[in-house]
Amino acid sequence: ATFKELGLEDNLLQAISDMGFETPSDVQEKTIPILLQKETDIVSLAQTGTGKTAAFGFPMLQKIQIESRTTQGLILSPTRELCLQITKEIESYGKHKKGLNVVAVYGGASISDQARQIKKGAQIIVATPGRMKDMIGRGMIDISKIEYCVLDEADEMLNMGFYEDITEILSHSPKDKSTWLFSATMPKDVAKIAKKFMHSPVEITV
Ligand code: AMP
Repeated sequence: ATFKELGLEDNLLQAISDMGFETPSDVQEKTIPILLQKETDIVSLAQTGTGKTAAFGFPMLQKIQIESRTTQGLILSPTRELCLQITKEIESYGKHKKGLNVVAVYGGASISDQARQIKKGAQIIVATPGRMKDMIGRGMIDISKIEYCVLDEADEMLNMGFYEDITEILSHSPKDKSTWLFSATMPKDVAKIAKKFMHSPVEITV
């Protein structure tokens, strides 16, 4: 299939062509049409390096309301490095969307700088769980209106001991959002998270 056949809009196709991507990867081909067509939860078993960031990034960018400054999408990832990498990728995928504001939230950097960025209005926040929980607790971030929540590298986040933080974060989000979980493996803890927070997820294996 082509990216256009997956249902992506012109400004994203333009960004894809700017980046020199020619054909969708396996996980992109399986995930993008489902996420574009309906509001659903998914569990995707995908390794890093398979193009999974674009698999959730493109649909999220297409679905958010760019005219609004409300936070609509949250992406949780295990490490600061990954958080920054995802932020950069989403920014380049969304470079033809005027007014897009993607903010990275992670530990080991100034919390007030990050709060200032958020205050300007971020449609998408990419965060590590510890700092995210902290900023929600301090009233610096409001995720009560998010529609899309990605749990990226869920197995890694749980290995790193973020179960409680993730639970606390999600308790501040609406029940009727869509949750998109990506994990390389499916240990008991990941299945537990999926069972607790997701509604009949579509399972995608690549
Ligand atoms: P990820 O698995 O999301 O970390 O992506 C791995 C790398 O592949 C990133 O550098 C992406 O920019 C790149 N990439 C993602 N999708 C494609 C594609 N369809 N064609 C070529 N490169 C891609």
